[in-house]
Amino acid sequence: MSESALQIIDHTVVVGSFQCNCRILACPRSGEAVLIDPGDEPEEILRTLQGLKVASGASLSVKYLFHTHAHLDHIGGTRKVREKLTEGESSPQIALHRADEPLYLQLKMQGRLFGLEYSDPLPIDHFFEDSEVLRVGVLKFSIIHTPGHSPGSICLRLHEDQAFGIRESLFSGDTLFQGSVGRTDLWGGDSDQLFKSIRQRIFTLDEDTRVCPGLGLKNERTHFLNKIFSLSLLHLAK
Ligand SMILES: [Zn+2]
Repeated sequence: MSESALQIIDHTVVVGSFQCNCRILACPRSGEAVLIDPGDEPEEILRTLQGLKVASGASLSVKYLFHTHAHLDHIGGTRKVREKLTEGESSPQIALHRADEPLYLQLKMQGRLFGLEYSDPLPIDHFFEDSEVLRVGVLKFSIIHTPGHSPGSICLRLHEDQAFGIRESLFSGDTLFQGSVGRTDLWGGDSDQLFKSIRQRIFTLDEDTRVCPGLGLKNERTHFLNKIFSLSLLHLAK
């Protein structure tokens, strides 16, 4: 098959009562895949995953479970997804920034506050470092530490690669919402830090970047538009 026929697999499953966007991204050549924020409805995520194939007909093999941060709606399905995948051929690594590990370990406590029950979380296999580059087949990600919404919040930059139909994208977790910024009233949230992260680490990105927030699928927009909205909020916050 010619390389030009190979296009990234880029799929979103909206899960749970918080409507978290769980992203399934896969290399069209090797079938290696990553899940971002498997926050709830693990069965639905796994079902969707099973239905996705690369052009050769091969199934996907999940290499990582990336987490933009450790709020319950982003990590709540992680254990079941990992356990089920490990029964098959994949054995994905659970990845999170270390500053959110305490929050991750307190998943049960988070759940109690919202009337939800969880099992104990599995250990974290990989701690993200700021500016770290991670590759999943032909997909190249870099980690941008953007504390504020939570201490260990990160944004995942997916680098453009036109050969595989990959757009320059930012998976922002809850650091950026559609036309807004993430809340800072939860554990370890800090609005000054959030605005600093956005100014210094997000506004500096290319304005054509596709921004994919952690919640609210319908209106993915370019960074340029997000920036206008965010700027007005930053102005109000002064
Ligand atoms: Zn959150």
